[in-house]
Amino acid sequence: MEDYLKKREELEREIIAAKYNKITFSPIEEEANKLYRQVLIKERATKEDSFFQGYTLKQREQFEKESFIFKSILKLPKGAVLHIHIDSCMDIDWFMEELAYHENTYFNQETSTFKYFQSAEKAQIRFKNLGLEKEKSSNKTQFDAEIRKCLFIQEEERLDSKENIWNIFEKKITSVASITYFKGHFPRFLKRCLENFIKDGVIHIEARADLGLIFNEDGSFLSINEEMEMISNVLKEVQADNPYFTLQLIIQGLKMWDLNQIEQFMRDALTAKKNYPDLICGFDMVQEEDAFKNILEIVPALIKMKEMQAEIGVELPFVLHGGESLHTLTNTNLLDILILGTKRIGHGINLAQHSYLLEKIKNEEICLEICPVSNQILKYIDDIRLHPIKTFINYGVKVSINSDDPGLFGYNGVSMDFFFVSIGTQLDYKDLKLCVYNSIQYSFLSVQQKRIAWQELEKKFQIWCKWFIESFPCS
Ligand SMILES: [Zn+2]
Repeated sequence: MEDYLKKREELEREIIAAKYNKITFSPIEEEANKLYRQVLIKERATKEDSFFQGYTLKQREQFEKESFIFKSILKLPKGAVLHIHIDSCMDIDWFMEELAYHENTYFNQETSTFKYFQSAEKAQIRFKNLGLEKEKSSNKTQFDAEIRKCLFIQEEERLDSKENIWNIFEKKITSVASITYFKGHFPRFLKRCLENFIKDGVIHIEARADLGLIFNEDGSFLSINEEMEMISNVLKEVQADNPYFTLQLIIQGLKMWDLNQIEQFMRDALTAKKNYPDLICGFDMVQEEDAFKNILEIVPALIKMKEMQAEIGVELPFVLHGGESLHTLTNTNLLDILILGTKRIGHGINLAQHSYLLEKIKNEEICLEICPVSNQILKYIDDIRLHPIKTFINYGVKVSINSDDPGLFGYNGVSMDFFFVSIGTQLDYKDLKLCVYNSIQYSFLSVQQKRIAWQELEKKFQIWCKWFIESFPCS
Protein backbone atom coordinates (compact mmCIF):
# COMPACT_ATOMS: atom_id res chain seq x y z
CA MET A 1 0.00 0.00 0.00
CA GLU A 2 2.87 2.38 0.80
CA ASP A 3 4.26 1.96 -2.70
CA TYR A 4 0.85 2.45 -4.21
CA LEU A 5 0.30 5.72 -2.33
CA LYS A 6 3.74 6.94 -3.40
CA LYS A 7 2.91 6.33 -7.07
CA ARG A 8 -0.42 8.06 -6.58
CA GLU A 9 1.22 11.13 -5.06
CA GLU A 10 3.74 11.26 -7.91
CA LEU A 11 0.98 11.15 -10.51
CA GLU A 12 -0.93 13.89 -8.71
CA ARG A 13 2.22 16.05 -8.60
CA GLU A 14 2.76 15.56 -12.35
CA ILE A 15 -0.83 16.58 -13.13
CA ILE A 16 -0.61 19.70 -10.95
CA ALA A 17 2.78 20.73 -12.38
CA ALA A 18 1.45 20.41 -15.96
CA LYS A 19 -1.75 22.32 -15.22
CA TYR A 20 -0.34 25.30 -13.29
CA ASN A 21 3.17 25.30 -14.77
CA LYS A 22 3.49 29.08 -14.92
CA ILE A 23 1.80 30.09 -11.69
CA THR A 24 2.52 29.31 -8.06
CA PHE A 25 0.42 29.37 -4.91
CA SER A 26 1.50 30.69 -1.49
CA PRO A 27 0.54 28.86 1.75
CA ILE A 28 -2.28 31.35 2.32
CA GLU A 29 -3.64 30.57 -1.17
CA GLU A 30 -3.45 26.82 -0.48
CA GLU A 31 -5.48 27.40 2.69
CA ALA A 32 -8.02 29.64 0.91
CA ASN A 33 -8.36 27.06 -1.87
CA LYS A 34 -9.13 24.30 0.66
CA LEU A 35 -11.85 26.41 2.25
CA TYR A 36 -13.19 27.58 -1.14
CA ARG A 37 -13.65 23.94 -2.15
CA GLN A 38 -15.50 23.20 1.08
CA VAL A 39 -17.99 26.03 0.67
CA LEU A 40 -18.36 25.30 -3.06
CA ILE A 41 -19.32 21.68 -2.36
CA LYS A 42 -21.76 22.79 0.34
CA GLU A 43 -23.46 25.49 -1.76
CA ARG A 44 -23.56 23.26 -4.82
CA ALA A 45 -25.35 20.53 -2.89
CA THR A 46 -28.22 22.92 -2.07
CA LYS A 47 -28.94 23.67 -5.74
CA GLU A 48 -31.73 21.97 -7.66
CA ASP A 49 -31.26 20.72 -11.24
CA SER A 50 -33.17 23.78 -12.47
CA PHE A 51 -30.42 26.05 -11.12
CA PHE A 52 -27.83 24.48 -13.42
CA GLN A 53 -30.21 24.21 -16.35
CA GLY A 54 -31.25 27.82 -16.53
CA TYR A 55 -29.60 30.97 -15.32
CA THR A 56 -32.57 33.13 -14.26
CA LEU A 57 -32.95 36.54 -12.73
CA LYS A 58 -35.01 35.16 -9.86
CA GLN A 59 -32.21 32.81 -8.90
CA ARG A 60 -29.77 35.62 -9.26
CA GLU A 61 -31.58 37.79 -6.72
CA GLN A 62 -31.51 34.84 -4.34
CA PHE A 63 -27.82 34.01 -4.62
CA GLU A 64 -26.81 37.65 -4.56
CA LYS A 65 -28.32 37.70 -1.06
CA GLU A 66 -27.35 34.25 0.17
CA SER A 67 -24.26 32.91 -1.59
CA PHE A 68 -20.88 33.31 0.10
CA ILE A 69 -19.24 32.13 -3.12
CA PHE A 70 -20.98 34.89 -5.08
CA LYS A 71 -19.98 37.56 -2.54
CA SER A 72 -16.39 36.29 -2.69
CA ILE A 73 -16.31 36.30 -6.46
CA LEU A 74 -17.50 39.91 -6.56
CA LYS A 75 -14.29 40.78 -4.67
CA LEU A 76 -11.99 38.48 -6.68
CA PRO A 77 -9.45 40.20 -8.99
CA LYS A 78 -10.56 39.39 -12.56
CA GLY A 79 -7.53 40.47 -14.65
CA ALA A 80 -8.55 41.06 -18.27
CA VAL A 81 -11.82 40.53 -20.11
CA LEU A 82 -10.95 39.34 -23.60
CA HIS A 83 -14.40 38.74 -25.06
CA ILE A 84 -17.19 41.29 -24.90
CA HIS A 85 -19.04 43.17 -27.63
CA ILE A 86 -19.32 46.88 -26.83
CA ASP A 87 -22.78 47.17 -28.38
CA SER A 88 -24.18 44.59 -25.95
CA CYS A 89 -22.76 45.90 -22.67
CA MET A 90 -25.67 48.20 -21.83
CA ASP A 91 -26.15 48.97 -18.12
CA ILE A 92 -29.93 48.62 -17.91
CA ASP A 93 -30.47 50.78 -14.79
CA TRP A 94 -28.40 53.52 -16.38
CA PHE A 95 -30.34 53.29 -19.65
CA MET A 96 -33.64 53.59 -17.79
CA GLU A 97 -32.42 56.66 -15.93
CA GLU A 98 -30.50 58.46 -18.65
CA LEU A 99 -31.71 57.43 -22.10
CA ALA A 100 -35.11 55.70 -22.03
CA TYR A 101 -37.05 58.94 -21.59
CA HIS A 102 -34.60 61.26 -23.29
CA GLU A 103 -36.37 63.74 -25.60
CA ASN A 104 -34.98 61.98 -28.70
CA THR A 105 -35.88 58.40 -27.69
CA TYR A 106 -38.78 56.91 -29.66
CA PHE A 107 -40.39 53.50 -29.31
CA ASN A 108 -42.35 51.20 -31.61
CA GLN A 109 -44.79 49.23 -29.49
CA GLU A 110 -45.53 46.64 -32.18
CA THR A 111 -41.90 45.60 -32.58
CA SER A 112 -40.78 46.59 -29.04
CA THR A 113 -37.83 48.49 -30.52
CA PHE A 114 -36.19 51.83 -29.71
CA LYS A 115 -34.84 54.41 -32.14
CA TYR A 116 -33.24 57.85 -31.99
CA PHE A 117 -34.96 60.64 -33.95
CA GLN A 118 -33.99 64.30 -34.14
CA SER A 119 -37.63 65.41 -33.80
CA ALA A 120 -41.24 64.13 -33.83
CA GLU A 121 -41.56 65.21 -37.50
CA LYS A 122 -38.60 63.04 -38.46
CA ALA A 123 -39.78 59.97 -36.52
CA GLN A 124 -40.66 56.92 -38.63
CA ILE A 125 -44.24 55.74 -38.69
CA ARG A 126 -45.33 53.87 -35.52
CA PHE A 127 -42.43 55.28 -33.45
CA LYS A 128 -43.72 57.38 -30.53
CA ASN A 129 -41.79 59.59 -28.14
CA LEU A 130 -41.26 57.38 -25.12
CA GLY A 131 -41.14 60.18 -22.54
CA LEU A 132 -44.52 61.54 -23.71
CA GLU A 133 -46.01 58.03 -23.75
CA LYS A 134 -44.92 57.50 -20.15
CA GLU A 135 -46.51 60.80 -19.09
CA LYS A 136 -49.83 59.58 -20.53
CA SER A 137 -49.63 56.23 -18.75
CA SER A 138 -51.72 55.67 -15.60
CA ASN A 139 -49.27 53.19 -14.04
CA LYS A 140 -45.73 54.49 -14.44
CA THR A 141 -44.07 51.66 -12.48
CA GLN A 142 -45.70 49.13 -14.77
CA PHE A 143 -44.68 51.23 -17.79
CA ASP A 144 -41.01 51.20 -16.65
CA ALA A 145 -41.17 47.44 -16.09
CA GLU A 146 -42.48 46.84 -19.63
CA ILE A 147 -39.72 49.00 -21.14
CA ARG A 148 -37.00 47.22 -19.15
CA LYS A 149 -38.17 43.91 -20.58
CA CYS A 150 -37.30 45.10 -24.09
CA LEU A 151 -33.68 45.68 -23.15
CA PHE A 152 -32.51 42.15 -22.33
CA ILE A 153 -33.49 38.54 -22.93
CA GLN A 154 -36.44 37.52 -20.77
CA GLU A 155 -37.01 34.15 -19.15
CA GLU A 156 -40.02 33.40 -21.35
CA GLU A 157 -37.96 34.30 -24.43
CA ARG A 158 -35.28 31.85 -23.34
CA LEU A 159 -37.84 29.07 -23.69
CA ASP A 160 -38.04 29.87 -27.40
CA SER A 161 -36.29 27.63 -29.93
CA LYS A 162 -32.53 27.62 -30.56
CA GLU A 163 -33.11 29.31 -33.93
CA ASN A 164 -35.35 32.03 -32.52
CA ILE A 165 -33.26 32.95 -29.51
CA TRP A 166 -30.60 34.45 -31.83
CA ASN A 167 -33.27 36.46 -33.69
CA ILE A 168 -34.56 37.87 -30.40
CA PHE A 169 -31.00 38.57 -29.30
CA GLU A 170 -29.96 40.38 -32.49
CA LYS A 171 -33.16 42.43 -32.60
CA LYS A 172 -32.50 43.71 -29.08
CA ILE A 173 -28.86 44.58 -29.87
CA THR A 174 -29.88 46.62 -32.92
CA SER A 175 -32.72 48.30 -31.05
CA VAL A 176 -30.56 49.42 -28.10
CA ALA A 177 -27.62 50.41 -30.34
CA SER A 178 -29.85 52.71 -32.37
CA ILE A 179 -30.08 54.85 -29.21
CA THR A 180 -26.63 54.41 -27.65
CA TYR A 181 -24.69 55.01 -30.89
CA PHE A 182 -25.95 58.60 -31.12
CA LYS A 183 -22.80 60.71 -30.70
CA GLY A 184 -24.33 62.63 -27.78
CA HIS A 185 -24.96 59.40 -25.84
CA PHE A 186 -22.11 57.11 -26.90
CA PRO A 187 -19.28 58.55 -24.74
CA ARG A 188 -21.43 58.34 -21.59
CA PHE A 189 -22.64 54.84 -22.50
CA LEU A 190 -19.07 53.60 -23.06
CA LYS A 191 -17.75 55.27 -19.90
CA ARG A 192 -20.45 53.63 -17.80
CA CYS A 193 -19.70 50.25 -19.37
CA LEU A 194 -15.95 50.49 -18.67
CA GLU A 195 -16.56 51.70 -15.12
CA ASN A 196 -18.84 48.72 -14.45
CA PHE A 197 -16.04 46.33 -15.41
CA ILE A 198 -13.52 48.25 -13.31
CA LYS A 199 -15.88 48.08 -10.32
CA ASP A 200 -16.01 44.33 -10.90
CA GLY A 201 -12.20 43.96 -10.58
CA VAL A 202 -11.22 44.13 -14.27
CA ILE A 203 -7.99 45.96 -15.20
CA HIS A 204 -7.85 45.43 -18.98
CA ILE A 205 -10.47 44.92 -21.71
CA GLU A 206 -10.14 43.75 -25.30
CA ALA A 207 -13.59 44.52 -26.68
CA ARG A 208 -15.13 43.66 -30.05
CA ALA A 209 -16.15 46.96 -31.63
CA ASP A 210 -17.88 48.06 -34.84
CA LEU A 211 -16.65 50.74 -37.20
CA GLY A 212 -18.76 53.52 -38.64
CA LEU A 213 -21.92 53.18 -36.51
CA ILE A 214 -21.82 56.32 -34.34
CA PHE A 215 -24.23 58.85 -35.82
CA ASN A 216 -24.98 62.59 -35.79
CA GLU A 217 -28.35 64.27 -35.03
CA ASP A 218 -29.39 64.00 -38.68
CA GLY A 219 -28.54 60.28 -38.92
CA SER A 220 -25.32 60.75 -40.89
CA PHE A 221 -22.29 58.84 -39.58
CA LEU A 222 -19.08 60.07 -37.97
CA SER A 223 -15.85 59.28 -39.79
CA ILE A 224 -13.84 56.36 -38.44
CA ASN A 225 -11.16 58.76 -37.18
CA GLU A 226 -13.79 60.79 -35.33
CA GLU A 227 -15.10 57.58 -33.74
CA MET A 228 -11.65 56.45 -32.64
CA GLU A 229 -10.94 59.92 -31.26
CA MET A 230 -14.17 59.75 -29.25
CA ILE A 231 -13.31 56.32 -27.82
CA SER A 232 -9.73 57.45 -27.00
CA ASN A 233 -11.12 60.45 -25.13
CA VAL A 234 -13.50 58.28 -23.09
CA LEU A 235 -10.58 56.01 -22.22
CA LYS A 236 -8.50 59.00 -21.09
CA GLU A 237 -11.38 60.16 -18.86
CA VAL A 238 -11.71 56.71 -17.30
CA GLN A 239 -7.94 56.48 -16.84
CA ALA A 240 -7.88 59.80 -14.99
CA ASP A 241 -9.60 57.99 -12.09
CA ASN A 242 -8.16 54.53 -12.83
CA PRO A 243 -4.62 55.03 -14.18
CA TYR A 244 -3.83 51.29 -14.33
CA PHE A 245 -6.82 50.50 -16.60
CA THR A 246 -6.33 49.78 -20.33
CA LEU A 247 -8.67 49.15 -23.28
CA GLN A 248 -8.03 47.79 -26.76
CA LEU A 249 -10.44 47.07 -29.59
CA ILE A 250 -10.94 44.02 -31.79
CA ILE A 251 -12.68 45.36 -34.89
CA GLN A 252 -15.65 43.17 -35.84
CA GLY A 253 -17.13 42.73 -39.32
CA LEU A 254 -20.32 40.83 -40.20
CA LYS A 255 -20.50 37.41 -41.86
CA MET A 256 -23.64 38.42 -43.76
CA TRP A 257 -21.56 40.79 -45.94
CA ASP A 258 -20.33 39.78 -49.39
CA LEU A 259 -16.61 39.32 -50.05
CA ASN A 260 -16.16 42.84 -51.46
CA GLN A 261 -17.75 44.40 -48.40
CA ILE A 262 -15.49 42.34 -46.13
CA GLU A 263 -12.38 43.42 -48.06
CA GLN A 264 -13.39 47.08 -47.87
CA PHE A 265 -14.06 46.72 -44.15
CA MET A 266 -10.64 45.10 -43.58
CA ARG A 267 -9.06 48.05 -45.37
CA ASP A 268 -10.92 50.46 -43.04
CA ALA A 269 -9.85 48.41 -40.01
CA LEU A 270 -6.20 48.41 -41.10
CA THR A 271 -6.28 52.17 -41.71
CA ALA A 272 -7.79 52.67 -38.25
CA LYS A 273 -5.05 50.45 -36.79
CA LYS A 274 -2.42 52.56 -38.54
CA ASN A 275 -3.89 55.78 -37.12
CA TYR A 276 -4.62 54.37 -33.63
CA PRO A 277 -1.99 51.63 -33.12
CA ASP A 278 -2.36 51.45 -29.32
CA LEU A 279 -6.15 51.34 -29.37
CA ILE A 280 -6.74 48.58 -31.93
CA CYS A 281 -5.38 45.07 -31.43
CA GLY A 282 -7.31 42.56 -33.57
CA PHE A 283 -9.86 41.69 -36.24
CA ASP A 284 -12.87 39.35 -36.08
CA MET A 285 -15.92 38.31 -38.13
CA VAL A 286 -19.09 37.87 -36.06
CA GLN A 287 -22.78 36.75 -36.15
CA GLU A 288 -24.38 33.41 -35.41
CA GLU A 289 -22.08 30.70 -36.79
CA ASP A 290 -24.78 28.31 -37.93
CA ALA A 291 -27.05 30.89 -39.53
CA PHE A 292 -24.49 32.70 -41.67
CA LYS A 293 -21.60 31.73 -43.94
CA ASN A 294 -18.98 29.28 -42.75
CA ILE A 295 -15.52 30.82 -42.38
CA LEU A 296 -14.39 28.72 -45.38
CA GLU A 297 -16.76 30.74 -47.60
CA ILE A 298 -15.14 34.04 -46.60
CA VAL A 299 -11.55 32.75 -46.68
CA PRO A 300 -10.96 34.30 -50.16
CA ALA A 301 -11.49 37.74 -48.60
CA LEU A 302 -9.64 37.00 -45.36
CA ILE A 303 -6.45 35.73 -47.03
CA LYS A 304 -6.15 39.10 -48.73
CA MET A 305 -5.54 40.60 -45.29
CA LYS A 306 -1.80 39.77 -45.59
CA GLU A 307 -1.50 41.62 -48.94
CA MET A 308 -3.39 44.61 -47.56
CA GLN A 309 -1.22 44.67 -44.44
CA ALA A 310 1.90 44.93 -46.59
CA GLU A 311 0.29 47.63 -48.73
CA ILE A 312 -0.95 49.74 -45.80
CA GLY A 313 2.12 48.98 -43.71
CA VAL A 314 0.49 47.71 -40.54
CA GLU A 315 -0.39 44.34 -38.99
CA LEU A 316 -3.72 43.39 -37.48
CA PRO A 317 -4.01 39.84 -36.13
CA PHE A 318 -7.14 37.70 -36.38
CA VAL A 319 -8.99 36.97 -33.14
CA LEU A 320 -11.85 34.94 -34.55
CA HIS A 321 -15.03 33.39 -33.20
CA GLY A 322 -15.20 29.63 -33.74
CA GLY A 323 -16.79 26.53 -32.27
CA GLU A 324 -19.89 28.35 -30.96
CA SER A 325 -22.08 25.79 -32.66
CA LEU A 326 -24.04 22.59 -32.22
CA HIS A 327 -23.51 21.46 -35.82
CA THR A 328 -20.29 19.53 -35.57
CA LEU A 329 -20.67 17.79 -38.94
CA THR A 330 -21.21 20.88 -41.06
CA ASN A 331 -19.42 23.56 -39.04
CA THR A 332 -15.64 23.31 -39.42
CA ASN A 333 -14.85 26.92 -38.50
CA LEU A 334 -12.35 25.83 -35.86
CA LEU A 335 -10.22 24.20 -38.54
CA ASP A 336 -10.29 27.30 -40.75
CA ILE A 337 -9.61 29.86 -38.05
CA LEU A 338 -6.55 27.85 -36.96
CA ILE A 339 -5.18 27.82 -40.51
CA LEU A 340 -5.87 31.57 -40.72
CA GLY A 341 -3.64 31.96 -37.65
CA THR A 342 -6.14 33.23 -35.08
CA LYS A 343 -4.35 34.45 -31.92
CA ARG A 344 -7.20 33.34 -29.64
CA ILE A 345 -10.53 31.59 -30.20
CA GLY A 346 -13.85 33.29 -29.42
CA HIS A 347 -15.74 30.52 -27.53
CA GLY A 348 -14.38 27.23 -28.97
CA ILE A 349 -16.90 25.28 -26.89
CA ASN A 350 -17.40 22.50 -29.42
CA LEU A 351 -13.67 21.73 -29.38
CA ALA A 352 -14.79 18.93 -27.09
CA GLN A 353 -16.19 17.36 -30.29
CA HIS A 354 -13.29 18.45 -32.54
CA SER A 355 -10.92 16.99 -29.94
CA TYR A 356 -8.22 16.15 -32.54
CA LEU A 357 -7.46 19.91 -32.47
CA LEU A 358 -6.91 20.09 -28.72
CA GLU A 359 -3.24 19.07 -28.80
CA LYS A 360 -2.42 21.72 -31.43
CA ILE A 361 -4.31 24.44 -29.55
CA LYS A 362 -2.59 23.43 -26.32
CA ASN A 363 0.92 23.35 -27.83
CA GLU A 364 0.51 26.63 -29.69
CA GLU A 365 -1.01 28.25 -26.57
CA ILE A 366 -4.08 29.57 -28.38
CA CYS A 367 -6.29 30.79 -25.56
CA LEU A 368 -10.05 30.06 -25.58
CA GLU A 369 -12.29 32.99 -24.65
CA ILE A 370 -14.98 31.10 -22.75
CA CYS A 371 -18.34 32.84 -22.07
CA PRO A 372 -20.34 30.53 -19.75
CA VAL A 373 -23.61 32.47 -19.23
CA SER A 374 -23.78 33.34 -22.93
CA ASN A 375 -23.34 29.68 -23.86
CA GLN A 376 -26.30 28.77 -21.71
CA ILE A 377 -28.64 31.63 -22.61
CA LEU A 378 -27.99 31.12 -26.33
CA LYS A 379 -28.66 27.41 -25.85
CA TYR A 380 -25.29 25.84 -26.64
CA ILE A 381 -25.01 24.24 -23.18
CA ASP A 382 -28.34 23.19 -21.68
CA ASP A 383 -26.84 22.32 -18.31
CA ILE A 384 -23.88 24.35 -17.02
CA ARG A 385 -22.56 21.22 -15.25
CA LEU A 386 -21.79 19.87 -18.73
CA HIS A 387 -19.79 22.90 -19.88
CA PRO A 388 -16.43 21.64 -21.26
CA ILE A 389 -14.33 24.39 -19.61
CA LYS A 390 -12.96 22.04 -16.95
CA THR A 391 -12.00 19.47 -19.59
CA PHE A 392 -10.03 22.18 -21.41
CA ILE A 393 -8.35 23.45 -18.22
CA ASN A 394 -7.37 19.97 -17.06
CA TYR A 395 -6.05 19.08 -20.51
CA GLY A 396 -3.74 22.09 -20.36
CA VAL A 397 -5.58 24.24 -22.92
CA LYS A 398 -5.45 27.94 -22.02
CA VAL A 399 -8.82 29.39 -21.07
CA SER A 400 -10.12 32.78 -19.89
CA ILE A 401 -13.58 33.65 -18.51
CA ASN A 402 -15.68 36.36 -20.21
CA SER A 403 -19.19 37.77 -20.37
CA ASP A 404 -19.74 38.25 -24.14
CA ASP A 405 -22.97 40.33 -24.04
CA PRO A 406 -23.72 41.03 -20.36
CA GLY A 407 -26.21 43.86 -21.01
CA LEU A 408 -28.35 41.55 -23.16
CA PHE A 409 -28.27 38.93 -20.38
CA GLY A 410 -29.34 41.45 -17.69
CA TYR A 411 -26.13 42.06 -15.71
CA ASN A 412 -22.93 44.13 -15.68
CA GLY A 413 -19.29 43.04 -15.55
CA VAL A 414 -18.08 39.45 -15.48
CA SER A 415 -18.62 38.17 -11.90
CA MET A 416 -21.78 36.36 -12.95
CA ASP A 417 -19.76 34.20 -15.36
CA PHE A 418 -17.06 33.42 -12.77
CA PHE A 419 -19.75 32.45 -10.26
CA PHE A 420 -21.96 30.39 -12.56
CA VAL A 421 -19.10 28.41 -14.08
CA SER A 422 -17.33 27.91 -10.74
CA ILE A 423 -20.39 26.45 -9.08
CA GLY A 424 -21.52 24.64 -12.23
CA THR A 425 -18.29 22.91 -13.22
CA GLN A 426 -16.55 22.93 -9.82
CA LEU A 427 -13.74 25.35 -10.63
CA ASP A 428 -11.90 26.08 -7.39
CA TYR A 429 -9.86 29.14 -6.43
CA LYS A 430 -6.76 27.78 -8.18
CA ASP A 431 -8.67 27.18 -11.43
CA LEU A 432 -10.08 30.71 -11.31
CA LYS A 433 -6.65 32.21 -10.66
CA LEU A 434 -5.31 30.22 -13.61
CA CYS A 435 -8.03 31.68 -15.87
CA VAL A 436 -7.18 35.20 -14.63
CA TYR A 437 -3.49 34.55 -15.32
CA ASN A 438 -4.35 33.42 -18.86
CA SER A 439 -6.45 36.53 -19.42
CA ILE A 440 -3.32 38.65 -18.93
CA GLN A 441 -0.81 36.29 -20.50
CA TYR A 442 -2.79 35.85 -23.75
CA SER A 443 -3.92 39.46 -24.07
CA PHE A 444 -2.32 41.96 -26.47
CA LEU A 445 -0.63 43.83 -23.63
CA SER A 446 3.14 44.23 -24.06
CA VAL A 447 5.53 41.93 -22.18
CA GLN A 448 6.31 44.79 -19.80
CA GLN A 449 2.61 45.61 -19.23
CA LYS A 450 1.86 41.93 -18.57
CA ARG A 451 4.67 41.70 -16.02
CA ILE A 452 3.47 44.78 -14.14
CA ALA A 453 -0.20 43.72 -14.30
CA TRP A 454 0.60 40.26 -12.94
CA GLN A 455 2.76 41.62 -10.11
CA GLU A 456 -0.17 43.79 -9.03
CA LEU A 457 -2.65 40.96 -9.39
CA GLU A 458 -0.48 38.61 -7.30
CA LYS A 459 -0.65 41.13 -4.45
CA LYS A 460 -4.43 41.43 -4.85
CA PHE A 461 -4.86 37.64 -4.81
CA GLN A 462 -2.94 37.39 -1.49
CA ILE A 463 -5.17 40.10 0.02
CA TRP A 464 -8.29 38.35 -1.30
CA CYS A 465 -7.21 35.01 0.21
CA LYS A 466 -6.59 36.61 3.60
CA TRP A 467 -10.04 38.23 3.46
CA PHE A 468 -11.62 34.93 2.35
CA ILE A 469 -10.09 32.94 5.23
CA GLU A 470 -11.09 35.56 7.81
CA SER A 471 -14.65 35.82 6.47
CA PHE A 472 -15.14 32.09 5.94
CA PRO A 473 -18.47 30.95 7.44
CA CYS A 474 -17.51 28.46 10.17
CA SER A 475 -20.90 26.81 10.59
ZN1 LIG B 1 -18.99 36.97 -29.01
